[in-house]
Amino acid sequence: MQNYDFQTILQQINKQINEKKNLEDQEINKGKRVVAFAKQQEAFDYDQKSGLLYNKFFSKEIGKDGKREFYVGYYEDFWDLMIKSRDFERNYYELIKEGSNCHLYLDIEYQRDVNKELLNNDHDELIVDLLIQRLCEEFKYVFGLDVTRKNFLDLDSSSNVKFSRHLICKITGYCWPNNEIMGMFINDFIDKLTLEKPVNSQVAQLLFVMNASNQVVSIIDKGVYTKNRNFRLYLSSKYGKIQPLILSKTNQYPFNSDSPTEKEIFYHSLICNIDDFNSTFKTLVYPPPIPLDKILDKSSSPTKRFTNNNNSSSPYKKLPSSTSSPYPDIDAYIKTELINRGGVSGWIKSITTDASFINYQIGGNKYCENIKRQHKSNHIYFIVNLSKKTLVQRCFDPDCKNFISNPIDIQSYLPSSELKPLDIDFDNYEFDDEIK
Ligand SMILES: [Zn+2]
Repeated sequence: MQNYDFQTILQQINKQINEKKNLEDQEINKGKRVVAFAKQQEAFDYDQKSGLLYNKFFSKEIGKDGKREFYVGYYEDFWDLMIKSRDFERNYYELIKEGSNCHLYLDIEYQRDVNKELLNNDHDELIVDLLIQRLCEEFKYVFGLDVTRKNFLDLDSSSNVKFSRHLICKITGYCWPNNEIMGMFINDFIDKLTLEKPVNSQVAQLLFVMNASNQVVSIIDKGVYTKNRNFRLYLSSKYGKIQPLILSKTNQYPFNSDSPTEKEIFYHSLICNIDDFNSTFKTLVYPPPIPLDKILDKSSSPTKRFTNNNNSSSPYKKLPSSTSSPYPDIDAYIKTELINRGGVSGWIKSITTDASFINYQIGGNKYCENIKRQHKSNHIYFIVNLSKKTLVQRCFDPDCKNFISNPIDIQSYLPSSELKPLDIDFDNYEFDDEIK
């Protein structure tokens, strides 16, 4: 595949595109099935105010400066719109709205010229093989889930200039509460690879690359887990290029048929394509309620950690993007006593829970007990251990990675009726040492 520079051609046809776009916009808005907006917030507002709650958002790059327009509507109708556009103007993205349940996605890439000493096209498949293998191990290790290469839908838009793949990991019955939590999982995964790099030449060569600034970085782009992220869609190219994401030749993700239609691949590749009304979906809770380093010290059998004894189902239950837990007194305690510390108002962004733990993600207030002041950018969270009847604060700052606050006794905020016993196999752990 080749890269095309369309700068000059684009100038000439820009006018033509704009005229066509105006017509397109009118067309779109007439049917009210997919509606276009100049601003992202307008698309969100429309979805709310119209009461339609499609809750599916997209964007299109319409300028080389990153200018975009935004869409809200059903997948079906958006597909019709997208597939009709010509190659050079198919610059569409899925908009992963803040807080949306989603599937794991990865953007892996490296520039060929600055890495030619160590990497060439022959390494591309080795990279994907090794990365997926390590991620599968991580899923087993952290969540007790059996994930294989077949869970990864593999899209490719590599060229002679750049290696570029999108991997979308779909696990039946599971999703992530949002892409921020997913980003933490990936960041921790990269940290582990970084520690391993000096002693594992395969990891060093295949999963770390030089960037344009001559720095060694992870092959995984860490920047794609931000709020309201736009993630390029199957069959779409970046603005000004014709280098679409297509199904990789080595994809092993199974579709309904051996020769799936483009439409079928499109549906399967959507990050937020989760049946919102299917309550059997479970959200993955991350970070794990017990810090990994503590577990590593104590467990003789790492893979047992988050698995149930007798079956393969995860202990994690879904509590869909809620801001209240089943324990209103604990919620109230956090709201009144903990999220306004340091004089900054905070709020509960989301709560995820299972039979034994509640994880409160906090917005606004970033007061961390480790540094006794607000963090600049990293958020804090609280974890309630229902078995121990304690609450601790942790945070996302790398410097506080192993920090756990002194536990607060929350017994008086729990209902007096007896609590359910733990249904997680923690036989190997000494709970007294869990929180220090
Ligand atoms: Zn901190």
